[in-house]
Amino acid sequence: MWHSGLLDLSLFQLAVVALGMTHVTIVSVTLYLHRHSAHNSLDLHPVLSHFFRFWLWLTTSINTKEWTAIHRKHHAKCETEEDPHSPVVKGLPRVFFLGAKLYAEAATPENCEKYGQRTPEDWIERNLYTRHRNLGIALLAVANVMLFGVHGVWIWAVQMLWIPFWAAGVINGLGHYFGYRNYECADEARNIVPWAILVGGEELHNNHHTYPNSSKLSRRWFEFDVGWGYIRLFQGLGLAKPKGYRPIAHSVPGKLEMDVETVQAIANNRFDIMRKYRKRVMEPVLQQQKMLFMEQEIRSRYKKLKKLLSREVTLIKPKDQAQLDSLLETNPRLRQIYDKSHELQALWRRRGVKPQEKLQALMVWCREAETSGIRYLEEFAEHLKTYALRPG
Ligand SMILES: [Zn+2]
Ligand SMILES: [Zn+2]
Repeated sequence: MWHSGLLDLSLFQLAVVALGMTHVTIVSVTLYLHRHSAHNSLDLHPVLSHFFRFWLWLTTSINTKEWTAIHRKHHAKCETEEDPHSPVVKGLPRVFFLGAKLYAEAATPENCEKYGQRTPEDWIERNLYTRHRNLGIALLAVANVMLFGVHGVWIWAVQMLWIPFWAAGVINGLGHYFGYRNYECADEARNIVPWAILVGGEELHNNHHTYPNSSKLSRRWFEFDVGWGYIRLFQGLGLAKPKGYRPIAHSVPGKLEMDVETVQAIANNRFDIMRKYRKRVMEPVLQQQKMLFMEQEIRSRYKKLKKLLSREVTLIKPKDQAQLDSLLETNPRLRQIYDKSHELQALWRRRGVKPQEKLQALMVWCREAETSGIRYLEEFAEHLKTYALRPG
């Protein structure tokens, strides 16, 4: 028949083929463009990296240098006027629906020059992938129609919309707006869902902004990063070598002595330590104090206050800050654990302080915690002492 291609597939089979091809594209974006090119957290065998580069040219017309530059600038200028796609600054609808347009606007020669270092500039890049960047998707349209007949047209349309929708819209938009935060990194990044399959692992965006040099994006036991699964598979085949995913600090049970390395290990592991402080100190103390909140108004905002207590200070809005201040004013015990959390953060926030001085500050912190009369704080001081740069 006129409308059938070389392959005679049922609608269901066609849908599986379309989904499979878009998944290869997603894997190319997360492994090659993001983890390998932009962050250098993953080494790829030249054959595999060229396959990804070719596949992206064929199915998306994305240029490696441009994508890499825009993404590095996003990390460097996150949530500021200069961030190419911050929903906090530009508004969620604009990033969600016009994400691809924002990329086109940001792909200036200046940005590529400044942020696009160490990206391919070889003969095939100059003469084919960059010079004829839209030839790939044109060839894809022809190939689709030859293979799938008239169905090739909608498959091609799905392929063209897949990355602008899932990567530019969902990740860049929702990934800085909706979801949960494991870590209080200095921007609004969130994990959209814990099982990151559809967008190749990129859904774990709070983890990624906290540890941008890690090739593994899942952090907690219930999180799943499908991209990491592919990395392990390619590693087994000798085609990939992940970097930056190993622990950067160790907790050695029974260790009671602190030294300069303890301070360093704590600074390395600061995001995880502050998450533990929230779980082991702030939340139980707040829970204990809950019954003391006579004012109905404070009780009704309990959940919000719980979040504000451990929120990264630069992200607290003035209105919320006023609420938090009034809570702390009337509750000395909460004030105490709140101040202790900031004294701890000063260990890695203050610049130009000698390692020995930081160690002294940590010892004072632990001594005060141990005599605070707050059991959770005492236990946390014990826990801090166990940190080391090497396991056991
Ligand atoms: Zn981001
Ligand atoms: Zn990134």
